Amino acid sequence: MIISMRPHATRQEIDHVCERIRDFGYKVHSIEGEERVVIGVVGVGDVTACLESLEATPGVERAVRISAPYKFVSREFKPERSAIRVNGVEIGGGEFIVTAGPCSVESEKQIMETAEGVAAAGARMLRGGAFKPRTSPYDFQGLELEGLKLLRKAKEATGLAIVTEIMSDRDVDLVAEYADCMQVGARNMQNFALLKSLGACGRPVLLKRGMSSTIKELLMSAEYIVAHGNPNVILCERGIRTFETATRNTCDISAVPVLNELTHLPVVLDPSHAAGKRSLVPALARADGLIVEVHPCPEKAVSDGAQSLTLANFRDMMDDLAPYIRLWSEARAVPVGAR
Ligand code: PEP
Ligand code: MN
Repeated sequence: MIISMRPHATRQEIDHVCERIRDFGYKVHSIEGEERVVIGVVGVGDVTACLESLEATPGVERAVRISAPYKFVSREFKPERSAIRVNGVEIGGGEFIVTAGPCSVESEKQIMETAEGVAAAGARMLRGGAFKPRTSPYDFQGLELEGLKLLRKAKEATGLAIVTEIMSDRDVDLVAEYADCMQVGARNMQNFALLKSLGACGRPVLLKRGMSSTIKELLMSAEYIVAHGNPNVILCERGIRTFETATRNTCDISAVPVLNELTHLPVVLDPSHAAGKRSLVPALARADGLIVEVHPCPEKAVSDGAQSLTLANFRDMMDDLAPYIRLWSEARAVPVGAR
């Protein structure tokens, strides 16, 4: 259950609601925003009685029952999509935002040239690691503070917002001084101490899916950040580990629509880490066509009814896709070498 208090509910009203929740045998997890307090109710108890009682308690605006284990990030809690602002850029809003930049910040020349190049080509945010998670302890570990300073310089020159990785809860304050968005890498998706610190820090977070993590685990990690006070989370699908060796990881393209059903948080795709191979990066979201199952009455279908679209669903899908199909056709009309 989640209880949204009215904007500017009094301290007395909030305390009273928390007391009522505890009376029903639940635990209270409240998030105090600038305007309103949202209270998460966790544990086992009589949900219906508690909901009915709280709905009638002074100061309460809305009480909703949430069946998903992740509460604040679920679509049950917030049916409308969230847009997250990163230094004036809105992710999950009306614009398709591209973030680009090197894996690691290596030198001033490298980051400035990259920043200017990607900004001129339409990127809105600059990525680049100053703290790098490397499989081998003998590999380059990042320029750390010097790298953060170079990112700041690139931001000053181009206006691009900065996305950079945070690896340890010890470095949160330092990285937050330079980053507009804190990237949590795949290897740290379940670093719970880090997630809690990012909850307290408040800077937007780009949370990457762990390479062996389920979508539910990704959402539970996002829940950690939100439940600890920071609602500004952007999810990132970056490929998962499978038996396939043709690519570095397997891009789970289903993750995007699945997440869109389960959460109101925006989702971005990282084709670079999914593919692991330059030639595949632009091609990852591009095929020659789709094959989709459609049935006039899926519930009567003798097979695969659950995945069959109705005719109305199909018409909606084609309407949704129309602008992308137009772009695709324009891109195809240009010879490959000239693209
Ligand atoms: C990266 O973005 O450079 C990176 C290390 O990504 P991931 O955590 O997805 O492997
Ligand atoms: Mn990388």
